[in-house]
Amino acid sequence: MRDELAEQLRMLESKSLRRALKAPIANLSASHNAGRALVNFGSNDYLSLANERFIAEAAEDAVRRYGTGSAASRLIYGNHAPHTELEQAIAAWKGTEAALAFSSGYATALGTIPALMGPEDVVILDKLCHACIIDGTRLSGAVLRVFPHNNLERLESHLQWARKRAPKGRVLVVTESVFSMDGDLAPLAQIVALKERYGAWLLVDEAHAAGVFGPTGGGLAEALGLGAHIEIQMGTLSKGLGCSGGYICGAGVLIEFLINKARSLIFSTAPPPANAAAAAAAVRWMPSVEAQERRRLLWNNVAHYRALLSEFCTAHSPIVPVLVGENSQALRLSDALLFNGFLAPAIRYPTVPQKQARIRITLSAKHSEQEIARLTKFLREELQKTKAAEEP
Ligand SMILES: *Cc1c(COP(=O)(O)O)cnc(C)c1O
Repeated sequence: MRDELAEQLRMLESKSLRRALKAPIANLSASHNAGRALVNFGSNDYLSLANERFIAEAAEDAVRRYGTGSAASRLIYGNHAPHTELEQAIAAWKGTEAALAFSSGYATALGTIPALMGPEDVVILDKLCHACIIDGTRLSGAVLRVFPHNNLERLESHLQWARKRAPKGRVLVVTESVFSMDGDLAPLAQIVALKERYGAWLLVDEAHAAGVFGPTGGGLAEALGLGAHIEIQMGTLSKGLGCSGGYICGAGVLIEFLINKARSLIFSTAPPPANAAAAAAAVRWMPSVEAQERRRLLWNNVAHYRALLSEFCTAHSPIVPVLVGENSQALRLSDALLFNGFLAPAIRYPTVPQKQARIRITLSAKHSEQEIARLTKFLREELQKTKAAEEP
């Protein structure tokens, strides 16, 4: 076994595709940056909530009251008050009849899509959908159709095809609202119009929009007033909310159905009550004046970054990747950034398509204008060097 696996790892290495766990940030600071703190431009903690005092206190409180583990699945005796309170808070925040929390965003997709779809049905995905959506669809056994990123004509032709192939079967369209590796937005209003014309259902994964878009941070659907037209609204608690877990919200009957059918919920121990308590605190905070102010800081940072790097960047969200192309170049640039005090990860295949390796830079509410100015200055110099090297 050892030789065989080692050989495969060497193959990955030769394509600059080998991955390794990153050292803890404190260790990275010490070894690469003369002990200075690194500025983290690689986190999904857009509102800087992962270290927020009142959320940590909610978790501490719940640990004292409920201990560290749930001790059973939600359907046995692992359902504690914070789980239910979290779901009520999510439903109130998103304005849906009900919500269901899962242990992660990944588990949410893996439980939800196979619960709803089977071999008689068709699932139609945007090409850039997250791995958990693809894996959930594969697990469902449904026929999979993929449309090029944000391409409405191809989505429509898949819908026509699906209606012919499965006149009685279900058709589900899935997209992200903010794409995780590109930071661009789905044309949600047009997608809603199309799925309604063809009688399909729509699942929108708001992983990178929750907390960030909309007057109460409800996501892009909230910002566009489309929530009521999306049958299955998905999100995670692990990004803009600074906690951990995933959720589905929608009609009460959808949630009851998932409680009966979603295997990642049924056959897994409930997340620790403290996780749920922390997430509930974050969700309840979302419509507050302080949260609005936090979102304003974040969007100011996005505008600032965009203004300073306008020729390389059209920012639609706090995800502002710099496209590099080759894996080895992306790794080199990420190392150079690290050496200069910035954390920003190289993203390679299969997370992004071949030849589209990139540095995935993400902005958060607590970056200072000086930090963003230093980063963009460094990036501009690096990108101009690369451009100059490419020109004959
Ligand atoms: C991160 C992510 C997930 C998974 O969420 P986790 O809570 O990290 O498991 C799902 N969908 C998208 C689009 C994501 O970016």
